[in-house]
Amino acid sequence: MKKRGVIFDLNGSLDNTDQSIIKAFQSTLEKHLPGRDTDLRRFAEELMVFFWQADKLADLKYPQWNMADIIERAVSRWSHFRRVNMDVQQFAKDYGLIRKECLTIRPEFVVLIKEMPRSVLKFIFSQGNSKRDVLVLLDKVSLAESDFTEILVTGSFHEENKPSINILKSIMDKYSLDPAGCLLVGDDVFLDIMPAKILGMKTILISEYVDVLAAGASEACAQAAALLGR
Ligand SMILES: [Mg+2]
Repeated sequence: MKKRGVIFDLNGSLDNTDQSIIKAFQSTLEKHLPGRDTDLRRFAEELMVFFWQADKLADLKYPQWNMADIIERAVSRWSHFRRVNMDVQQFAKDYGLIRKECLTIRPEFVVLIKEMPRSVLKFIFSQGNSKRDVLVLLDKVSLAESDFTEILVTGSFHEENKPSINILKSIMDKYSLDPAGCLLVGDDVFLDIMPAKILGMKTILISEYVDVLAAGASEACAQAAALLGR
């Protein structure tokens, strides 16, 4: 029988990155903006957008920024936008601690991974995490390195970052896998799905933000007309 493999993106796919960001921002806002409880969920979601913006900026322009720098940048821009006064450094510190607690592997995937036959090769492909971070996260849900064929972090590919055809191809070559027998689970079309699809893998996009997924312009037009009630 042909070998099969599944490659999981970590952040936002296998783990609950966005939910933990929102939860952590919300809890930190409760402490820093007492008495504003009605807006806090919306504020936390807004802060997450500012966070991803700062994270992208760090990737592109400020590689020396660490996570605290990114959070401080996001919070200071958001508080300026919302005209609220906050101790940005303390906010970033409090946020970091809570986010660590909230971050976990999604329970549905824990079950899937534990129940999947051993003959299916399982990989985690992560960008921006150390191998140690990944193992700590797995340990939280009683998964271990031995539950996977290999855990790949982009640092081990001489700084080659996603999106990457090379990294996926190197997995296929190393384990003699045929792309048609492989599945990639990701939450980002360009970073995860596009290179996998181009190589001929099956793909699953996981997203809580999409109401309708359209395969092309005609479908998008039909769905838009249906959604807008025309
Ligand atoms: Mg991701």
